Amino acid sequence: MKEHYHRTTCRICNSSDLKKFLDLGKSPLANALVNKKNLNKKDKTFPLAVYFCQNCSLVQVSDVVDPRMLFSDYYFITSASSPSVDHFKKYAQDILKNFIKSSGDLVVDIGGNDGTLLNELKNDSRVLNVDPATNIAKISKKKGIKTVNDFFSKKLVTDHLLRNFGKADVVTANNIIAHTDTVIDLFKGVKEFLTPGGVFIFETHWVRNLVEERAFDQVYHEHLSYYSLHALKHLVESVGLSVFDVKTVPIQGESIRIYVSNNRKSKPSVKKFLAREKSLGLHKFKVFSDFSKKVLESKNIMLKLLASLKENGKKIVGYGAPAKGTTFLNFFGIGKDTIDYIIDTTSIKQGLFMPGVHIPIYPPEKLLESKPDYILILAWNYADSILKKEKDLIESGVKFIIPVPKIKIV
Ligand SMILES: [Zn+2]
Repeated sequence: MKEHYHRTTCRICNSSDLKKFLDLGKSPLANALVNKKNLNKKDKTFPLAVYFCQNCSLVQVSDVVDPRMLFSDYYFITSASSPSVDHFKKYAQDILKNFIKSSGDLVVDIGGNDGTLLNELKNDSRVLNVDPATNIAKISKKKGIKTVNDFFSKKLVTDHLLRNFGKADVVTANNIIAHTDTVIDLFKGVKEFLTPGGVFIFETHWVRNLVEERAFDQVYHEHLSYYSLHALKHLVESVGLSVFDVKTVPIQGESIRIYVSNNRKSKPSVKKFLAREKSLGLHKFKVFSDFSKKVLESKNIMLKLLASLKENGKKIVGYGAPAKGTTFLNFFGIGKDTIDYIIDTTSIKQGLFMPGVHIPIYPPEKLLESKPDYILILAWNYADSILKKEKDLIESGVKFIIPVPKIKIV
């Protein structure tokens, strides 16, 4: 495929009845942190806008960047984040208790990252990780987890996986389907792969968080779809599978975990959840156009606040260099004349620069050496734990700015 293409139809139902509600202009790739030697080059940028499908209600980014550009090297390592590790431990218990019948069962994790989930299951079942990121697949293999370093697709299942590993009893995919343009093909591959009684369990960001938390910075090129159960039901049923259970899980704000099979009877949770989404208006365009207005309001308020702090000679730095920080800084137009530097605990990000705005990223120790007056929390979803961890800084007079959902100074 080309580096980038613009789809004119919905990714899951093929309707061309797509309505745009938020335009973020041209943005660099959120995870394409810049090396010092490339600072004089202009970063590649691609259009970034969000649409609502009037037919199946999927919220989606229609500008698709070649996944090989996005995922061949990847900077997010699950085991580096302790909330994620705890989450996957509990998740593994759920799978073990409810869906693994014997140690010969095969559990496959699509985009299993460094094997954090499978590591919890490898003593009780056969496990297989299918992950396209070469650097991360290596880590997974080192843990003793069978790993295929490739993009999951129907073709990979029929040509390679079935022949080498047999049918799968449990397939999981966490934070994957939102990143996949060819999601229909992925679901067809899963259907082909599953034993007749097998289950497909996946977690994905829930579109409610986008609107309720005004989390416009969740929008980036890697993050193509923003799912409701309404849209997911459409997707699952279009390949001949069905949703039999759903729950919300406290990870990345609030995510949804969906349970899919060939033939299991739908639990009351599914009907209840659909009703809940209806009462929130997630199946209608209006909620999303209202959200867009609020985002533009936030942008105004934040820029005024930062400008007045700079006028008063305040030193401002950023906390955390997550992908969402790229959207946030580029859409708001906040550069190194405002933010001196950003700190991040992930060592592979240190020494690099934020895409587009080229703000340098340092290890946390930089805060002691070059003390700021204000710290803007770009990793705002971890604001509570950051504030707890940094209470000495707060006591010493440093102020924290939490930008989302509503701008707050602590
Ligand atoms: Zn659609």
